[in-house]
Order: sequence, then C-alpha cells, then structure tokens
Amino acid sequence: MSEQAVLRCEALTRTYGSGATEVRALVDAELAVEPGELVILRGPSGSGKTTLLNLLGGLDVPTGGHVWLGDREVTGASERDLVDMRRREIGYIFQTFALLSALSAAENVELPMRMIGLPVAERRERVAELLAVVGLAEHAEQRPNELSGGQQQRLGIARALANSPRLIIADEPTGQLDSLNAEAMMSLIASLVHERGVSAIVSTHDPRMAAHADRILEIHDGHLGRRHGRHTTGAEPI
Ligand code: ADP
Ligand code: MG
Repeated sequence: MSEQAVLRCEALTRTYGSGATEVRALVDAELAVEPGELVILRGPSGSGKTTLLNLLGGLDVPTGGHVWLGDREVTGASERDLVDMRRREIGYIFQTFALLSALSAAENVELPMRMIGLPVAERRERVAELLAVVGLAEHAEQRPNELSGGQQQRLGIARALANSPRLIIADEPTGQLDSLNAEAMMSLIASLVHERGVSAIVSTHDPRMAAHADRILEIHDGHLGRRHGRHTTGAEPI
C-alpha cells in the first residue's frame, strides 16, 4: 500500500443491528486510492457501496477498522476535525443531488465556501468558474427545481468541487439520469480527475461506466474486491 495514498482503509467493517437481525454490510475492506486516480466501485444493490463510501468520507462510524485521508486518521477523529475534513478535503456527490431548493444554483455552489469563510470576492470568482466548468454558467440564478435532472447533478458536482477537495466521493451519481446524461456525467468526473489531479471513488451499478475508470473494484455482500463465487478481482493490490 502506497505511502502517499489520498485515501486508505484497513480491515474496515460495518455491522448493522445485532443477534438474529445482524447485517454484515461491510467486512474487512482494504483499499488505497492514489492521487489522480478514478476508482469505480461496482456492485449490485445492497452489496455495501453506500456503507463503504459513508465510512470513507467520515459520514458513518465503522464497527471496526481504520480510514486515513492522507496522513490524517478519519476513524477516531473528533467531530470538529471530521467536519473540517469533510468541508475542505472531500467533495461528495449524492445520487439524490442533495441541493438546497431555496437557494439559487450559484448560492448552492457558494455555500461550502461560506462555511470555511472564503472572502466574498474569491467566492464569486470561484462560483462563476465552477458553474462554467459544469456547463451551467447560464443557469446561475435558477433554483434546483427549475433545472433538469442532468443539470442538477452537474450542479452537485460544482458544489462538491467548491473547496478544491483532494478527493471526490460519489455515490451512484448517475443513478437517476438517463443514459446520455449518465455518460456525460462520468466523462465530466473523469476529466476533472485527470485534468485537476483530484482523486475520486465513484459507486455505480451501471456496467457502462467502467470505461472511464483507472481501476474497478467489485463489491459483493460486503466483500470488497471479490466477485460472487470463486473468482476474485482482488489478485492485484487493492
Ligand atoms: P448499496 O449502497 O450497495 O445498495 P448499502 O451499503 O446501502 O448497499 O447496504 C448494504 C447492506 O446493509 C444491505 O443489506 C442493507 O440492507 C444494509 N443496511 C444499510 N443501511 C442500514 C441501516 N441503517 N440499518 C440496517 N441495515 C442497513
Ligand atoms: Mg447505495
């Protein structure tokens, strides 16, 4: 496992419930994401993709194991440090977009910048730049519900990039998009990773998205890097 990995986890495990209702959603996951790498996490519904991404991003606490973001340990960090890491170092893109409906497109992108206290002039400039990157320069003043699904998801990407994160975590970002928009979305994420040196881990159950990946990890029944049954994709270092 490389020293300079952007994101790393060891023996990461998450169990929900206990006794007869216990669900082992993630079992002993090991992973390292390198700088500038786009990793696709592929697995059927219920295989543990969201569980893993939430743990990696510090949105959930594991039953066991460790997560590091660069040289900082996410697991065991104080709530205050976690909030700081989430705001500055990780950009999340959610399947449901998670935009604030009362805010304009520009204000949605600006919000994370306000939270870290970026000066207003810099905010304006960055908002304009990011809206342009995702092709929404003309839609700055519109509310999310005045945008199409594809536009809302692109707005979600612009917001995720607001504070120049080192890592993008995207949970089925194409799940609610038609195939044309889904393809455009993956191309956009891939170009951001490859042109800006950001790293990304993106879950999908859409096999067509694999074309953009530097690496594909399979997850089945909470086991990362294994195909169902006898075959394994875990032979290469994961
Ligand atoms: P995916 O994102 O791949 O669809 P999830 O990570 O959401 O999978 O779920 C993995 C497993 O954990 C599933 O069996 C799911 O039912 C279970 N699970 C997820 N969240 C919870 C929860 N909050 N409580 C109990 N079980 C959960
Ligand atoms: Mg999920």
